[in-house]
Formats: sequence, structure tokens, C-alpha cells
Amino acid sequence: MATSPNLSRREDLALREAASGRTRTQLLANDLQLSPTEQALYERLLSRLARGEPLSYLLGFKEFYGRRFWVNSDCLIPRPETETLVDLGLQWALELKGFSDPLGCEDGKEGDAPIRLLDLGTGSGCLAISLGLELQARGFSTQCFGTDLSEGALRLARNNAAWLGADVQFLQGSWMNALSEVDKSEGFDLIVSNPPYVGSEDWEFASGSLSWEPRTALVGHEPSKDGMNDLREIARQTIKRLRPNGLLAVEHGYRQQEFVVDCFQQAGFFRITPMNDLAGHPRYVLGRL
Ligand code: GLN
Repeated sequence: MATSPNLSRREDLALREAASGRTRTQLLANDLQLSPTEQALYERLLSRLARGEPLSYLLGFKEFYGRRFWVNSDCLIPRPETETLVDLGLQWALELKGFSDPLGCEDGKEGDAPIRLLDLGTGSGCLAISLGLELQARGFSTQCFGTDLSEGALRLARNNAAWLGADVQFLQGSWMNALSEVDKSEGFDLIVSNPPYVGSEDWEFASGSLSWEPRTALVGHEPSKDGMNDLREIARQTIKRLRPNGLLAVEHGYRQQEFVVDCFQQAGFFRITPMNDLAGHPRYVLGRL
């Protein structure tokens, strides 16, 4: 069966699965043959892909931390590098609270107060849901919140939580302002965010999937040349709401680390740790009181 020349085998199989509703095993067993109707749909998907539409929007999902998240043009497509924020959150929990006991055989986490987790600008919900589920799988009890300004994104996040069996409260509003006074005053142990951080000029010249993704998820509501507005605001808002030993972990652009460290300092964080991604690029900053 001929495949399109500009397509990787993985992409081709994914589009054929989407066009036929069959699994890749079934498709491979049948030499990737499609019926005429399926072939027509496959070709329509191919032409949308050729126009630059991201594969994840065509398929309607993207894998993140081993789970399938439903996505559409209301949310940023989860990126593999954002998975590191999940790892960093888990590391923090295990270091702080000691080893977990998933089988519940020892004095586990049962009696411990739940970890209050907050994901700011949650989009598809991938960070809040993955962290909530992974912490629970390690024996921690959690109370999870995700906030976003976008109603469409929150709809997706709620669907993803329901489909993945995660208990997360998703609330609409700007950063911490989405939370009730009670929730704010209780504070949070772990706050994560992959906020808009693309500078306005970088976005103007963006190619690839960026031009299909929600502009506000990339540059924010008040775009700035350096893309730092939201990171600064998040540092400023969260410092007041972090519990003792709590952690704020953010993702940022690869040229922004010194500015992020600086705004964490300005906000009043003491223990500030810049981190690299798996490719060695400076992409995250951790802040503690
Ligand atoms: N990581 C995205 C990119 O590919 C940006 C996401 C964001 O602004 N949070 O540039």
C-alpha cells in the first residue's frame, strides 16, 4: 500500500487508524488497505496535514506521561518537555514526604494530610491530571485544582479528568484569582505551570503548529516582547499561597531562565533552582520559600 512520501510511518498509521476506526494491528494485518470511504477520509486528513494543521488536532488526542489526552484548538498541544514538570513534582513529593508505599502495607500516606496541588493555566489538564494520578499511584492523597481563563480549555480538561478517572477541580479565571478565598487561604503544597511565555515577536514569525494553537496560550492576554508577563505574575501571586516546604515549578522558554530566576527572587522566593530539559536546554525554574 502506497503511503504519502512526506509522512513518517507513525503519522501515516495514526491517520489510517483515525480514518478507519480500526487498530494498527488490524490495519497491518490487512496490508494497510482502506475501503474507498475510508480512503477518502484519509486523503482529506492528509491534505489538512499538508496545510500545516497539527497531527494532534486532526487525531483529537495527544499522549502525555503515558496517557491519552483529548485535545482541540482550544488548548495547547501537550509537549514532551512538559512531562519533566511531572517528574519534578513527583521528586519533590518523594523527597519531602519520604518513600511512598503503593501497596499500603506499611505506615503509608493514609494518615497524612493530602497534598494540595494547583496547576495554573491548565489547558488540556495534562499536568494537573498526570500529577494527581501519579501521586496517588505512589500512595499520596491529593486535592487537585486546575485553573484557566479559557472555557473551551476547561471543558477539555474536565473531559480528560473524567475519562482518566482523575479527581481535579477545574476553575475558570486568571491564575490564582480563579480560586475561592477559602481555597486560597488554605494554600498549596505544589504549584505547577506551563504558562504563556512566547515573546510577541517570536510568535509573529512562528511557523509549524504554533500558528494553529490558541494565541493566548502561547503569548498570553497581554503579549510582551520578552514573553515574561505571566511568569512574573505567577511568581508574584503564588509566593503568598505556598505552604511551608511547598514548591512552585514552572516551564519557560530556553532564553528566559535568568529572567525567571530574577522574577522569582523579586517575588521573595529563597531556594531557587534552575533546571535543564533532557536535551540540556534551560527550561524550568523551581522556587521554594
Ligand atoms: N512550548 C511551547 C513552544 O513550543 C510554548 C508553550 C508556552 O508558551 N507555554 O514554544
